[in-house]
Amino acid sequence: MTGVRALGLPAMAPLPGLPDTVEIWEMSPRDGLQAERARLGVEERVELIERLAAAGCAIIEAGSFVRSDRVPAMAGSDEVLRRVAHLPVRTPVLVPNLRGYELARAAGAQEVAVFLSVTESFSQSNLGASRETMEAAAADVVSQAARDGVRVRGYLSMAFGDPWEGTVPPREVLGLAQRMRAFGVQALSLGDTIGVATPGQVTDVLRTLTGEGIPVGDIALHMHDTYGQALANVSAGLAAGVRVFDASAAGIGGCPFARSATGNLATDDLLWMLAGLGIHTGIDLDALTETGAWLSAALDKPPTSRVAMALAR
Ligand code: MG
Repeated sequence: MTGVRALGLPAMAPLPGLPDTVEIWEMSPRDGLQAERARLGVEERVELIERLAAAGCAIIEAGSFVRSDRVPAMAGSDEVLRRVAHLPVRTPVLVPNLRGYELARAAGAQEVAVFLSVTESFSQSNLGASRETMEAAAADVVSQAARDGVRVRGYLSMAFGDPWEGTVPPREVLGLAQRMRAFGVQALSLGDTIGVATPGQVTDVLRTLTGEGIPVGDIALHMHDTYGQALANVSAGLAAGVRVFDASAAGIGGCPFARSATGNLATDDLLWMLAGLGIHTGIDLDALTETGAWLSAALDKPPTSRVAMALAR
């Protein structure tokens, strides 16, 4: 991380109880691009994944096998997946149901993710079906994946706040987490889909889940920076023992329910904080920031990450 040193970031100061390394799930090719107005073709999405892999990202969510009439930005995910198969990185893809799972497998997917909503409102309005229907579809995917030896991650959307229902009770998050674990999803990613969570709330939700026996090692945090709390929330997660965080290069991926330019936590901002804590990720900040600049240019928009803005000055 030569860029950090050149810019005079204070000496690394590991804090007691924090880990030496954490795992970052790079979200820009899927969660990032699907929320952007501008669309990238297969060629550019392949190049993005190649650049991220070269920067040291080890887990890159590569696409989504939802219907392309519903999410046009993810059309051609099968081709993207085939063309990045040679890279020495994990490339999970999102699948909504068994049909999507089969398409993903046919394109060579070794690892998939399912997504469910903690709240009924978001499930109906955004996922297009009730929670019960969505959970049944996810359970079908998980059973087939178990037979195929395919690893599954589970996203819990609206785990903190919901634009229709307000603050989400931690017991509701626990309920969904327990049902998902019951049908076989171990790795859970708690999504602050609208970016309203605060460190106190993150701590509360994590305590509720771990207090009922869900290992903190099975929990990842997927924070959005709508209200500027994403890094503070990551800090709360680190303090509670979370070691897996989702982020998107240059902060790509706006928030669909708030008139805010900032959406996903920017990978570059996360790397800057972790570098200052002496926590390793295997990702090179300079290369990641360059990739973020390239991606922002391809989308014809300025990067929203603070690090990218600071470095551009
Ligand atoms: Mg996101």
